[in-house]
Amino acid sequence: MTVWDELVGQDQQLAPLRNAVADPVAMTHAWLLTGPPGSGRSNAGRAFAAALQCAEGGCGECRECATALSGTHADVTLVRTEKVTISIQEVRELISAAQSAPSQGRWRVFVVEDADRMTERTANVLLKSIEEPPARTVWVLCAPSPQDVPVTIRSRCRAIALRTPEVEAVAALLVERDGIAPELAYQSAAAAQSHIGRARRLARDPEARARRDQVLALATEIRGVGDAVLAAEDLVRVADEDAKAATEERDAEEKAQLLETLGAETGGRLAPALRAQVRQLEEDQKRRATRAKRDVLDRAITDLMSLYRDVAVIQTGASVPLVNASHDGHIRDLAGRTALADTMRCLDALGTARERLAGNVAPLLALEAMALELRPQTGAGRSR
Ligand SMILES: [Zn+2]
Repeated sequence: MTVWDELVGQDQQLAPLRNAVADPVAMTHAWLLTGPPGSGRSNAGRAFAAALQCAEGGCGECRECATALSGTHADVTLVRTEKVTISIQEVRELISAAQSAPSQGRWRVFVVEDADRMTERTANVLLKSIEEPPARTVWVLCAPSPQDVPVTIRSRCRAIALRTPEVEAVAALLVERDGIAPELAYQSAAAAQSHIGRARRLARDPEARARRDQVLALATEIRGVGDAVLAAEDLVRVADEDAKAATEERDAEEKAQLLETLGAETGGRLAPALRAQVRQLEEDQKRRATRAKRDVLDRAITDLMSLYRDVAVIQTGASVPLVNASHDGHIRDLAGRTALADTMRCLDALGTARERLAGNVAPLLALEAMALELRPQTGAGRSR
């Protein structure tokens, strides 16, 4: 299995990257990888980094490949931010690191996974290094769309536009690579809307499937004001737990590592100057937890949108496959007892909730308002 195999259904899109690995003439110092969520833009960035370090051009087996993919390769820097923006200070540090020659690999590669999270000012600092790149340095910027990065940067990068792979291609990967049963693989790929990581998690983790089912059930369970308020509380609580589970282990590891670097024994007393560093780390971790929680909530809302989209498919008689085929019964039931206008209103409410969350409205407030809109507005059960 090579480093490229995970990126299913985009051979054509990835060809320029693969050519650049094989042929120095096709190489360039700055790349911009764009594509919708789930198109694998950061995975593609990492695969490219690995392929550039690997003697075999990305065999997927050797030490270079493994360390480049996980971000521990000495000459590969993966830049991921948990904050709303990448700070100018962080970019300055990257640029100064970019000045030194690769320590062991053939290239020094910087993969900026959220290049869209840079302010214009920060981007301008980066621009200098992209315009006059030190020899052997490669910048790989990832963003949802080219418009998400300043035009000055965009115009100096070679653009690669990735797309969302077909559900069938993602399902086939789950079957081949993870040994998932074909039916479950298809269901998971469809439910994840072709997001490979999410599809794999759904396919392998029954709890993740159960949580998703719980979220979808809200569409039919919310009847009155009381249900709506409880549902919003539930969603926020589940998001808290999910985010906690995802970050807790990493937090503890990071802290232990920092203390070790600082030469402090665990449980011992720290000099004031060192304490500040620990506090800084703790603040970063808190921000990361907040973002993780928002991401979980955003996914829950996206899942609900996929359900209402399915309801609309039935109501309009469109002949496209359902995202949530395993919930066929509920979807048809809901489609039968509501009108298309209701479905559209619910989709609007979900979209508004996403915007509010992104705009830093308190999650519980945003979700309560959303849940209230999801109540049936016609027929029985309007008030209770
Ligand atoms: Zn390799």
